[in-house]
Amino acid sequence: MNTLYLKSFIRCKRKAWLDLKGNKSYEVWSPHKAIDKINQFQIFSKLCDGEIYTGLKACKIGYQGVIGLKIKGTFFQNINAEIHPQLLVKTKGISKWGQYKYLPAVYKLGHKTTKEHLFDLAFSSILLGTFQESKIEKGLVISSFGNKVNVEEIYLNKKLRKKVLNVLVSLNESLRGFMPEITQDRKKCTICSWQKFCDKEAKENGYLTDIDGIGSKTASLLKINGIPNTQSLASTSEKQLVEKLSKFNDQKYENAFRFIKQAQTYISGEPYWISEKKDPYFLLEKIGSGFFIFDIESNPDYKHDFLYGFLIINNLFIKKEDIIYEPILNLKNNKGESYRKIIKILFSKKKWPVLHYGETERIAIINIAKNLNFSLEQIDSLTSRFIDLHTLVRKSWILPLKNYGLKNVSNWLGFEWVQKNVSGSKALYWWIQYQITENELFLKKIIQYNKDDCLATLHIAEFLIKNQLNKN
Ligand code: SF4
Repeated sequence: MNTLYLKSFIRCKRKAWLDLKGNKSYEVWSPHKAIDKINQFQIFSKLCDGEIYTGLKACKIGYQGVIGLKIKGTFFQNINAEIHPQLLVKTKGISKWGQYKYLPAVYKLGHKTTKEHLFDLAFSSILLGTFQESKIEKGLVISSFGNKVNVEEIYLNKKLRKKVLNVLVSLNESLRGFMPEITQDRKKCTICSWQKFCDKEAKENGYLTDIDGIGSKTASLLKINGIPNTQSLASTSEKQLVEKLSKFNDQKYENAFRFIKQAQTYISGEPYWISEKKDPYFLLEKIGSGFFIFDIESNPDYKHDFLYGFLIINNLFIKKEDIIYEPILNLKNNKGESYRKIIKILFSKKKWPVLHYGETERIAIINIAKNLNFSLEQIDSLTSRFIDLHTLVRKSWILPLKNYGLKNVSNWLGFEWVQKNVSGSKALYWWIQYQITENELFLKKIIQYNKDDCLATLHIAEFLIKNQLNKN
């Protein structure tokens, strides 16, 4: 058992088991992990003024920061354990190496210090204390906001140490047993490297949390009420489901129809068109005389939009190879310059609508307009040109999909990205790589990815229009 299994176990029992015993060919490389590692190293380096070295030798010499150390030991009940402290920070004290000792430190992304951080520190402190022959009273949680490194001291009291020991015993038992169930809280799966493996099993077994809008709470309500899986949800009448859901005073009963239809389409693979009373030609009329497609790539941790991409489309029937794609890079977060370029493009055709997928682009344009001192009226007029296709798809279609993200929907419609296995996080990973290496190849990959995101959005627009015309 080691730190990595402990961290996985806190997130999801099954993940720890799969990390140890799963067939690695089903595991998918996760850009999140890689991004985390890079961020971690940069912040640790800053904290230790660049004095970071690897392994036991670094401890003996007494460097300020030590990474890459693995320490083995045993717990009670003779459980073998190994810690991989993310960072050891030199501090005052006496250890077997001399007039100093080390404290364990972990990296934190965001504001919240979680159980994962606390248990990681407590676990490390137990084995590290014995190893360096010096007791450890506290650990450090390191984070970064803007350019500032933040250090939070965590006192590793008896209660916390006892808690982590109990968790380690459960982890040990779990690793010896059968593969645990898929987690109830499927949100955790979105950044997990075993997601594809578990998704397949969840679909085969008709997990209710596969249905868009059904989280762990609604799934348990349904199970208590005799609807254990997607198959039985699909065959429930709307009236019955409304009754069952409203018993729990849950607003979800309003979604009864959608849940049932979503379950039916998920099983049959056949999409369902929600007849809209509203003008079916709405989108076609709006974009008939030209439109933009807009998509942003950003680093949310640094609130930095590093690429704004536009497709400029004079008419819907234009050949793909004649479409103009305009990328605006914002390498140094030089807002003024890139903002002016964006506004110049948008105002080159003042009446053209701007199609985008999801809320990000609209929010970004409001911030840009505010930053350029637009009046409220000007901001309203600009944002009124924005049409969110994600909302439109969800309003008019129930698709046989687990979620309605851009990749999922456009893949289902047959759109293919030029680069394989890409995602927003992979683009972010390339961006971080570019910042470190300044290798233009990474920028090229990001630009290609963004262009494909824009083309995927166009593909969805075409689908909406084609089907609205056919249905009316
Ligand atoms: S995909 Fe979800 S259920 Fe499967 S191991 Fe990961 S977090 Fe757990």
